[in-house]
Amino acid sequence: MERSSSTERYQPVTSKNSGDVVEVLPDLAYLTDQIVNVIFVGNPEPGNPWVLVDAGMPKSGGKIIEKAEERFGKDRPPEAIVLTHGHFDHIGGIIDILEKWHVPVYAHPLEHPYLTGSENYPDPDVTVEGGMLAKLSFLFPTDPIVITEFLEGLPEDGTVPPLPGWRWIHTPGHSAGHVSFFRDADRALIAGDAFVTVRQDQLYKVMTQEKELTGPPRYLTPDWTAAESSVHTLNGLKPAYAVTGHGEAAEGAWLTEHLDTLDRHFKELAVPDHGKYVKDEEKGNGR
Ligand SMILES: [Zn+2]
Ligand SMILES: [Zn+2]
Repeated sequence: MERSSSTERYQPVTSKNSGDVVEVLPDLAYLTDQIVNVIFVGNPEPGNPWVLVDAGMPKSGGKIIEKAEERFGKDRPPEAIVLTHGHFDHIGGIIDILEKWHVPVYAHPLEHPYLTGSENYPDPDVTVEGGMLAKLSFLFPTDPIVITEFLEGLPEDGTVPPLPGWRWIHTPGHSAGHVSFFRDADRALIAGDAFVTVRQDQLYKVMTQEKELTGPPRYLTPDWTAAESSVHTLNGLKPAYAVTGHGEAAEGAWLTEHLDTLDRHFKELAVPDHGKYVKDEEKGNGR
């Protein structure tokens, strides 16, 4: 790698697409803020309801509101915020957003303890292989953001009240109450961190966003057996489009092929060879 100047060297970890809104379908778009995606579901044409999926990195609330207003217009708040899970990089902007828009926040009941202040997520695994970002993960806040008064459970029948036509699918592993969202009509998938299209554990790949379909971010995934069966479930849906929590959206043959490969070779491709959350029987065969 080339030597960088001192100013470049101290730039924050930001991916190359940071700041752009990318439209996957007319009513499905995402904003990459630093390293994480937030998703806008809904037709931007006036009069249509829309929903925000996930709420980005800490301090990103203002940016998310700004981009949402560019897309949907001012004075057009979302019907709700829907969360794939409650990790800090998916709810970091939520307090600022809820101050502006007093809307319900839907999350799986198993994530609620982390959103009401009653529990903290397990500490990130700094022993996991995978380079610098994992080593820096001790800097990640694990204290919960408290949004009790706005919180709603996702109903057991699989529907997503503010998102007609979509259903939620329990995809635990990365976190116990992790969910993905699927629309049968066009097989669009919002996968959260059940699988992602950039390796979050390699700083270089986070910055360049080199596209690669892989399992959930390693240093925050406590249950690899559940993570594997979640990928199997999602592969079974044969999604035509996938927006993931990190990395670019994927679609078509590339998505089908890479998701199927991840499903069939999950242990080798996704599970770290060592790490405090990795049990012997979950390990891959080396790489
Ligand atoms: Zn996560
Ligand atoms: Zn994430």
